[in-house]
Amino acid sequence: LQTQVKQAAHLPAVTLDGHAMNLMVNSGLSAGLEYSQNVGADGVGLYRTEIPFMNRNCFPSENAQTALYHTVLSSFAGKPVTMRTLDVGGDKSLPYFPIIETNPFLGWRGIRITLDHPEIFLVQIRAMLRANYQLDNLAIMLPMISSISEVDEAIKLINQAHYELRSELLNDQADCLARPKIGVMIEVPSVMFQLPELADKVDFFSVGSNDLTQYLLAVDRNNSRVASLYDFYHPAVLRALNYIAEHSSQLKMPLSICGELANEPTGALLLMAMGYQNLSMSAHSIAKVKWAIRHVEMQQLESMLAAVLRQTDVLNVHRYLHQQFVKLG
Ligand code: PEP
Ligand code: MG
Repeated sequence: LQTQVKQAAHLPAVTLDGHAMNLMVNSGLSAGLEYSQNVGADGVGLYRTEIPFMNRNCFPSENAQTALYHTVLSSFAGKPVTMRTLDVGGDKSLPYFPIIETNPFLGWRGIRITLDHPEIFLVQIRAMLRANYQLDNLAIMLPMISSISEVDEAIKLINQAHYELRSELLNDQADCLARPKIGVMIEVPSVMFQLPELADKVDFFSVGSNDLTQYLLAVDRNNSRVASLYDFYHPAVLRALNYIAEHSSQLKMPLSICGELANEPTGALLLMAMGYQNLSMSAHSIAKVKWAIRHVEMQQLESMLAAVLRQTDVLNVHRYLHQQFVKLG
């Protein structure tokens, strides 16, 4: 079975009855890039830019960031790469930018920091746009959005960076400086109830199920004392994910998910039944998720999803899914 699963990596992610899925990788470490390129992924669904910021002793310059992003974009040339703007705060700190707070996950995090420090944001966006020059496979994603005004502000800054860079280039070069697609992470529950307004402003949604779970259930994702309460299969989390998929489809918004849930074949299949089009996961999960997708029919998944969404207790969800997976072999 191990060999069969490995071989599945280079086959299409298509169900027995022909429903196709895009499988992308989550990345952030340059060391993992080569491996990620060779696991049969359709692109990068989440590049966590804060990771290279964490292994240094000062903010990287615009040139240093341009070089770094160029390496990522060019190693996936021709395939989409979604880069997330700096998402520090919470559990991710930079040694040269200390943040001391009593409640960091509810504090100064992600887009909140970069909008308060537009100079950091602008340099990062300029570097991304420069790295994307002539490659044109970049999409920009905004983390920790909780209000529409944050999206407005961020887009204004992205437009400013694009405008300034264009005016620095010669005419024909300026014409080649693409304006990338812009998306938001759906990871703070408040945005679930602002999807139509968001859809008017951005090009895609990507669900951050790690944070969405933490904020929906009010369970710190890193606190071992409450770890048993942190569960992606909690009925409220699954119903929220389904709600987002239904509404995104009505709004005709491309929808991805880049949290850990997509790493598990069970999670991936449920998400597929909900209507997610792109699943982004760690590189080592691609083969097993593809293998699972290639062994099921959409109809089976849809009835499994309907039954799961009727459950009222997380233990029953696990019990039911376990039974189904034993049946599926
Ligand atoms: C998430 O919150 O699900 C996510 C993908 O982002 P991170 O884990 O980096 O917060
Ligand atoms: Mg997150």
